[in-house]
Amino acid sequence: MRIVQVGYAGLGFSILLPVSTLCSLSSRMEAYRPCLQISQPLGSFDTGMANQWQIPSDAEKRIRQRFPVCAYCGGKMEEYPNRKGCPPDKSTFEHLNRHGPFRWSEGLNETDVVMACGRCNSSRGKKLLSDWFQTDYCQSRGICEASVAAEVKQYLRLPVSEE
Ligand SMILES: [Zn+2]
Repeated sequence: MRIVQVGYAGLGFSILLPVSTLCSLSSRMEAYRPCLQISQPLGSFDTGMANQWQIPSDAEKRIRQRFPVCAYCGGKMEEYPNRKGCPPDKSTFEHLNRHGPFRWSEGLNETDVVMACGRCNSSRGKKLLSDWFQTDYCQSRGICEASVAAEVKQYLRLPVSEE
């Protein structure tokens, strides 16, 4: 087994990793990067958590169950756990608040996160929801304050109708 030493500028540590682990980490990073726009260095990633926001796997499961369809467009989503890149219908974590907290250890909790399809997630990017709703993407799909999932309305402090 070939072992390489991997260090990251600015982090002040380096780790020894088998090459095979490094390759698999690297391909996992590539799979997520297009959707999640993460800029974390490789190596702070494999913490045994399900994702880089440190959402524990039981919470992740509950979040996924709450959103069988995209919280924004209502489209069907797939997990694609082993696929590289970000298919438009991939289910992705979406932080409602652009200002964080983004990590569990910083106080992120599961009601701050919804699941959105890769297409909506990348279209919204870092926009305010109210600005995003004005875009052609949303207008052409009828995505607006009234159409989004109850959790998003709650975040926007809109009245949630009981259905
Ligand atoms: Zn969507």
